[in-house]
Amino acid sequence: GGTVRFEHVDFRYDKDRPILHGIDLTVPAGHTLAVVGPSGAGKSTLARLLYRFYDPSEGRITIDGQDISAVSQATLRRSIGIVPQDTVLFNDTIGYNIGYGRDGSTQDEIVAAAKGAAIHDFIMGLPQGYDTPVGERGLKLSGGEKQRVAIARTLLKNPPILILDEATSALDSRTEADIQATLARVSARRTTIVVAHRLSTVVDADEIAVVEAGRVVERGTHARLLAKD
Ligand code: ADP
Ligand code: ADP
Repeated sequence: GGTVRFEHVDFRYDKDRPILHGIDLTVPAGHTLAVVGPSGAGKSTLARLLYRFYDPSEGRITIDGQDISAVSQATLRRSIGIVPQDTVLFNDTIGYNIGYGRDGSTQDEIVAAAKGAAIHDFIMGLPQGYDTPVGERGLKLSGGEKQRVAIARTLLKNPPILILDEATSALDSRTEADIQATLARVSARRTTIVVAHRLSTVVDADEIAVVEAGRVVERGTHARLLAKD
């Protein structure tokens, strides 16, 4: 499962200022949709609607045909994992940070689950092991290492749907490409929505939707969109 559909979705935060207009998008289960466009276009807002941070002003969003307005946030949050752009780590160990949100798990259980969730590639990219303290009194991780921890934390929940909201945008392009390649490998069967402002981030997406001023103005594969430039 995990087919995501936006049907004629409009959204406004304030009643006089519409942000999204007539969004129609389908992401088949297991596919990757990239949403690209300039800053302020409404990309993050679109991603937040799927998580029910907010509900559409008009239209509806379904997962496997079910209107998500009838699904509690708690339930949605079990099936959707989000990786944001900036991750603030707890002043605790790498293991604690990766396992955060798993109530009652011991370190051993987290390590076992990490192996099961195939997130080892992310953890292997870290400079030290699970027991290493990070944050203010511990090891200072780079931006890329922090995002590895954030992605590992999210993948550990094994969500069928993954949202990457500019998750690698702040990184240098080599680190970004590294992390995106690993992600493509470990999340091949997940429905994935990648929000990005660079087309180079989303080479592997099944489809790219270009959003400008709250509308989808262009759709296609990476090759097709590049050919039009
Ligand atoms: P993008 O992700 O493409 O940069 P956003 O979805 O973050 O765009 O923002 C789209 C528009 O919505 C912007 O004009 C932004 O200022 C506005 N916006 C974003 N979040 C809020 C909010 N919580 N309240 C009011 N306006 C918001
Ligand atoms: P992002 O990088 O996710 O687009 P922003 O830097 O645009 O975030 O915004 C940071 C925070 O401020 C977000 O929580 C967003 O919802 C909120 N925000 C953005 N624009 C506005 C706005 N015009 N009015 C109120 N809140 C806003």
